[in-house]
Amino acid sequence: MVVGDFANEVDVLVVGGGPGGYVAAIRAAQLGKKVTLVDKAELGGVCLNRGCIPSKALIHAGDEVHKMKNSGHMGIEVDGLKINFAEMIKWKDSVVNKLTSGVGSLLKNNKVEVVQGEVYFTGENTCKVATESNSTTYQFNHCILATGSRPTEIKALPFDGDKIISSTEALNLSEVPAKLIVVGGGYIGLELGTAYAKLGAEVTVLEGMDSILPGVDPSMTRMVKRSLKKLGVEVVTGAMVQSSDKSKKGVTVTAKVKDEEKTWTADKVLVSVGRTPNTDEMGLDQAGLEVDEKGFIAHDEQMKTKNEKVFVIGDIAGQPMLAHKASYEGKVAAEVIAGEPSVVDYRAMPYVIFTDPELAYTGLTEKEAKEAGHEVAVSRFSFAANGRALSLDAADGFFQVVADKDTKQVLGAQIVGPEASSLIAEVVLAIEMGANAEDIALTIHAHPSLPETFMEAAEGIMGNAIHMVNK
Ligand SMILES: Cc1cc2nc3c(=O)[nH]c(=O)nc-3n(C[C@H](O)[C@H](O)[C@H](O)COP(=O)(O)OP(=O)(O)OC[C@H]3O[C@@H](n4cnc5c(N)ncnc54)[C@H](O)[C@@H]3O)c2cc1C
Repeated sequence: MVVGDFANEVDVLVVGGGPGGYVAAIRAAQLGKKVTLVDKAELGGVCLNRGCIPSKALIHAGDEVHKMKNSGHMGIEVDGLKINFAEMIKWKDSVVNKLTSGVGSLLKNNKVEVVQGEVYFTGENTCKVATESNSTTYQFNHCILATGSRPTEIKALPFDGDKIISSTEALNLSEVPAKLIVVGGGYIGLELGTAYAKLGAEVTVLEGMDSILPGVDPSMTRMVKRSLKKLGVEVVTGAMVQSSDKSKKGVTVTAKVKDEEKTWTADKVLVSVGRTPNTDEMGLDQAGLEVDEKGFIAHDEQMKTKNEKVFVIGDIAGQPMLAHKASYEGKVAAEVIAGEPSVVDYRAMPYVIFTDPELAYTGLTEKEAKEAGHEVAVSRFSFAANGRALSLDAADGFFQVVADKDTKQVLGAQIVGPEASSLIAEVVLAIEMGANAEDIALTIHAHPSLPETFMEAAEGIMGNAIHMVNK
């Protein structure tokens, strides 16, 4: 600070207006704190503007098209189906705009001051907030850092925003590409790849590991692989991308697959190989903060960093990089700042992948439960035996429950199938409440409905399922 450069004194400074930052700001304000939130771009962060919401809108639009094209067996014949992609993108933008303006008014109603600018630390409790025209110094009592992440670039495929794109551009194309190569078979690549395949693109997925969705239970990914095949998506695993070559027509990508060089050409290449935390170029060292080799900032179970005044949440705090994890951590950080004894507990974190079929899981898999020392009981109920799934013409998949064999306590679940993204919520609650399979089995579930599959799987743990043969 130079003489004459007066600092704006703020109580809680939140940096980043994504699902971590804006939720933290609102919770801190609810707890009586005076909060200032700074973001260099739009409110809502990646999730609302370039992530969860726009991707789910496009996925839904793709699903609608796919259903119309594939409902002949139900007597639905559609002639002359046309996709007005510009309108589709406009509709997706309208969804985004509704939500981001909603965030603005929530912050306003909670009396959170919103400042636009880029934050750069200048000391343990000071930073500069720079806009294009000026720079202001801020001094804070506490800071919650929630600067999120950005798409990771790889040397062989440098982003050009046109032919070699990240998820950001993939959500804002002007037309459906005739041919699309997706490099990276993680959830972002597969969700967008599936959506574009349903909208008519010829899609190839190149994944470096042995399987798509590395880290996800293979029994779950098997069904996604099958459905990608049905959609005509070529999935190549063990494909290490070496180089790319751009021409007027598009991009040629060369990858090594089992020591053999292969090439693919497409109009667009979507690179979705991971996300890099935004922890560089922020003067973190001035605030006494360090990042690990992956760019994450270390913190304790109250989200507090080495600098007692600074908390980190969301994508910069570590994996999993998920919006609901960011919001959850934001609430904990705000509560700790307000003097409450909150700590994080990730036991019942839901993971959802919006592929076709949807995947969702939480808690422990059978293998993890065994490794944790449990004697394990596993029960799997198939959607093919669920009336609602059949009536929705979506009977592929299963609801699997993992429980402790003695206590019957629910330890985890893996769901593949219709509305897995919603169905997982009941399991998350069960784990959070310490419920056992009997609690679930004794809960009356509406008929016909998809959540009945949880009741049946829980009954399976008890050995008294009605609609399947008990083991
Ligand atoms: C295509 C896609 C689909 C996704 N789908 C899902 C999904 O379905 N479910 C899910 O849970 N997650 C999903 N995610 C992940 C989710 O978007 C992130 O986990 C989440 O946005 C992280 O929230 P955050 O608050 O940590 O940061 P972000 O949302 O990244 O927000 C960070 C904010 O900080 C601002 N900022 C950065 N640096 C500075 C600075 N120096 N000064 C001021 N402001 C700064 C940025 O402008 C940004 O607004 C998806 C992501 C992508 C890319």
